[in-house]
Amino acid sequence: MDSDFRLGLISHSSLGTLSSCARKFQLSRLQVQGTSNSVEDKLTFGMGHIAGLAIQICFEQPTISLEDLVWKLFLSTECTPIDLLESDSKRKKSFYFALHAARIFHAQLFPRISAEYELVYLEGGKPATELSFAIHIKNNIYYRGFIDVVIRHKETRRIAVLENKTSSIGANPALYKNSTQGVGYTIVVDHLFPEDSALECIYLVYDTKQFEYTDLPFPKSSQDRLDFLRTLWLEATYIEMCAESNYFPKRGTGCFSFFKKCPFYGVCDIDPAYLAVPADFTLADDLGKYDYHFTFEDCFNRYTQGKEI
Ligand code: SF4
Repeated sequence: MDSDFRLGLISHSSLGTLSSCARKFQLSRLQVQGTSNSVEDKLTFGMGHIAGLAIQICFEQPTISLEDLVWKLFLSTECTPIDLLESDSKRKKSFYFALHAARIFHAQLFPRISAEYELVYLEGGKPATELSFAIHIKNNIYYRGFIDVVIRHKETRRIAVLENKTSSIGANPALYKNSTQGVGYTIVVDHLFPEDSALECIYLVYDTKQFEYTDLPFPKSSQDRLDFLRTLWLEATYIEMCAESNYFPKRGTGCFSFFKKCPFYGVCDIDPAYLAVPADFTLADDLGKYDYHFTFEDCFNRYTQGKEI
């Protein structure tokens, strides 16, 4: 693919954008300034970050007191994206609502989950939290991501992947069961721990309106993993086709979703060549942010024993 390298840097979230509208994907990858992020978007991002960090800290320090947890969150640089005074009172999102989510996790869900599961450690003693990975799919296309936490069942010794979510529309399993995010993570974990197999992905969903956590475990089979890799290959091929023809189609169904307009509404008719912002990083800069690197073949061969796609 002989085009802007940023188009090949994909993730679970950018593939969601691609399926909503390829033009939106193109413009966001090319760092085009749309309408700026709303306060609600920033709070959603910040809440997810803080709640996820609280879960990681609880697993790393299972005896931590609530007071120490709150101070760690307050002092963490991870929490700086969220403005302490901003609040979305309708969806119950703010820094303080995020601390409340951490409190509920610490008091209610963590004691139950940690009675059954313990944190996994990598060789060298590094806790398996916030694991960053990049899978080279083909040419200049890389699937990158972060795994929140990897845990092991104390009796069966089986591994599971935890994924933290915050939601203002409840913890409906249909929101997560067929998401490719969790199954993608199980593939990475299989690769990092070849002696084990990650049999499930457990979504920890915090309902911001009801102030409650729900854990939703979804088993993931080898067939699920193979399906995910096939899907990834097809998505990468589609991106290559769009890039080679220098045409990322617009899809009107993406123009208004989650009660708001697409940030590129009104500008996406302009030739993207005029809109693209010069890259302020290199491919090496981006890939350097990820600790674990694999190839598509490494992953695929594990489940096919060398058979063709
Ligand atoms: S406004 Fe609609 S067509 Fe234009 S980029 Fe956004 S989703 Fe695509």
